[in-house]
Amino acid sequence: MSTLRFHALKETYNHKPVPVEEKHRRSEIFGANVFNEETMRQYVTSEAFESVRDAIKNGAKIDRAVADHVSTGMKEWAISKGATHYTHWFQPLTGATAEKHDAFFEPTDGGRAIEKFGGGQLVQQEPDASSFPNGGIRNTFEARGYTAWDPTSPAFVFGTTLCIPTVFVAYTGEALDYKTPLLRALQAVDSAAVAVCKYFDKNVRKVNASLGWEQEYFLIDSGLAMSRPDIMLTGRTLLGHSSAKGQQLDDHYFGTIPNRAMAYMRDLETECMLLGIPVKTRHNEVAPNQFELAPIYDEANLAVDHNSLLMDVMDKVAERHHFKVLFHEKPFAGVNGSGKHNNWSLGTNTGVNLLSPGKTPMSNLQFLTFFINTIKAVHENEELLRAAIASASNDHRLGANEAPPAIISVFIGDQLTKTLNELENVTDGKLSPQEKTDLKLNVVGKIPDVLLDNTDRNRTSPFAFTGNKFEFRAVGSKANCANPMTVLNTIVANQLIEFKAEVDALIDKKEMKKDDAIFNVLRDYIKKSKTILFEGNGYSEAWEKEAKKRGLSNNKTTPEALKAKVSKQTIAMFERLGVMNAIESESRYEIEMEEYMLRIQIESRVLGDIARNHVVPTAVRYQNILIENVKGLKEIYGTSFKTLAQEQLNLIEDISGHIKGINSKVTEMIEARKTSNNIANLEKKANAYCNKVKPLFEEIRYHCDKLELLVDDELWPLTKYRELLFTK
Ligand code: ADP
Ligand code: MG
Repeated sequence: MSTLRFHALKETYNHKPVPVEEKHRRSEIFGANVFNEETMRQYVTSEAFESVRDAIKNGAKIDRAVADHVSTGMKEWAISKGATHYTHWFQPLTGATAEKHDAFFEPTDGGRAIEKFGGGQLVQQEPDASSFPNGGIRNTFEARGYTAWDPTSPAFVFGTTLCIPTVFVAYTGEALDYKTPLLRALQAVDSAAVAVCKYFDKNVRKVNASLGWEQEYFLIDSGLAMSRPDIMLTGRTLLGHSSAKGQQLDDHYFGTIPNRAMAYMRDLETECMLLGIPVKTRHNEVAPNQFELAPIYDEANLAVDHNSLLMDVMDKVAERHHFKVLFHEKPFAGVNGSGKHNNWSLGTNTGVNLLSPGKTPMSNLQFLTFFINTIKAVHENEELLRAAIASASNDHRLGANEAPPAIISVFIGDQLTKTLNELENVTDGKLSPQEKTDLKLNVVGKIPDVLLDNTDRNRTSPFAFTGNKFEFRAVGSKANCANPMTVLNTIVANQLIEFKAEVDALIDKKEMKKDDAIFNVLRDYIKKSKTILFEGNGYSEAWEKEAKKRGLSNNKTTPEALKAKVSKQTIAMFERLGVMNAIESESRYEIEMEEYMLRIQIESRVLGDIARNHVVPTAVRYQNILIENVKGLKEIYGTSFKTLAQEQLNLIEDISGHIKGINSKVTEMIEARKTSNNIANLEKKANAYCNKVKPLFEEIRYHCDKLELLVDDELWPLTKYRELLFTK
């Protein structure tokens, strides 16, 4: 074993499970570091408290005097929790969270100091934000951005810092972060859904979108991870021959959690509890050293913040345990990648889950309304949904044979398929009383019984109905959930508005009763959006062909997929619903396209470096050993040496062949990069990286992985798959 690998592996033996202190019941520490309603009530005047509640519930503005009260209370509380600094915490389009810490401390006259935190500092800050991605929104030097308090997501103390969740916008008003469009989309779906709910229940005043994410990740010993330049710089392995044992025995999924990983998880869960992140389940995933963590679902904005925060916390806690968390969607070839299922639903202030069948025909008609409208929204915006989950890293997963395909389709289960088929045959126009009774009793009325056995979940579907929610499974493990959640809630809002208009028109013009009108429009929607429904194996080739026939898109790469973000239809929809204006849509497209290009560029450089500077020299060294051996044989055996040295001679030639393969392909890749870099148009440049640079990765890797099998293990410098995946 090479000294590098030896030391990396040796170090793992020092990495024993860290003892975790557990003094509390989880319920006692839950939310202890969160400035939630209960805490706020203790620290601010009741007037200020009501004002913030009004802002949370109804989006009312908070005036300056109130902000001063709140900030003072928040500061006192934060200091009692050990905080010395505060920060506006936000989610710029880099994918990471951002924070800039300021101390409460302020000097006063006479050489003394006080702790200070005013309303102004709570409400608004101006980070020096010129180096966050903005896609041309703030291209002039005087244009600045600011962060503004989002009272709907409570402040929290992490470490010694009070963190205040904020939006990040340009002075010209354009959003520069993930949260702003999400909040607007949630507002849009709220008002559109409330309007539709009124058909069924006049008491509905508020509809909240809910999100329950499931975070998958790999946990790798930090020493081993650090010995791999590809993992350190790109978050994944760019080469490495698969381990003799991988996941073929299916012995990791739901298996016993290894001790070290368990200690990490318990520590992580304690941190989550303190931060009010309601993590509930943990288990091993399919691949070795792969795990999953999921909370109880929450209001979507809060759930998105929690997921972003969680990813930070996971990194930090991992340091204590000498682990490196890999969030990348495909860190290892040949074993499963990671995703982040987004479970989504809509719930009313009256306590009804709109995607859960009810007890009466009327509530089931409401369920069907939201169910069918969601299907239609997905049908009409399938390319946009695909775009919402597009990234260089997720491209490896979508369409690979263990993950949802790049084709978006909806799985609903046998029973609901039957229900929709029956609804499709509803009479055009007014229904006879008999028909209505039939429908209500036999179709709509039977849904709840039916759903109990809707357990046969199709794991290959990218968007599946699972009894009381939809599960968007194609989201990447590394992604910020805000992006897919913004799109999903926007398209559903858009669809509900259209639905309401159509139903109202039928009631007005054709003098139909409300129920008749609803049935008629739903029937029409089923007909129109049927092609998006698919119950079969989403991983099969047959589906790819079938989907093509149905006219569904199959955008396999990010540059292809992203285009849907700037289609006329998308831009107009986002604008109409007030979620993003054209500038915001276009700038995001640019940012993501550029990010894609840069990621491939970095990977390409790293791969070129490893192949040329690690793999080739090692192969040459081993080849020299073989040459010495052959020379020795010749010296001893003279002309008859050949029979004895044949295998060595073959190896020498094989190694030369692979060295040649690597060198010529790396040269080709460098040339392709140069050509791509000279392209001024961003879209063309990203496409060149995708179609000219990236395909060479596989070819270079092929030769490197072959060499890994040939070269003496003692010389091989890179930590191998079996070491990365099976060290516990
Ligand atoms: P799995 O998909 O692994 O089988 P479950 O389906 O039981 O797991 O639940 C997955 C996630 O769905 C959990 O985070 C749970 O909180 C969430 N969930 C349950 N109900 C809802 C809902 N109404 N809205 C959003 N998420 C929900
Ligand atoms: Mg799931």
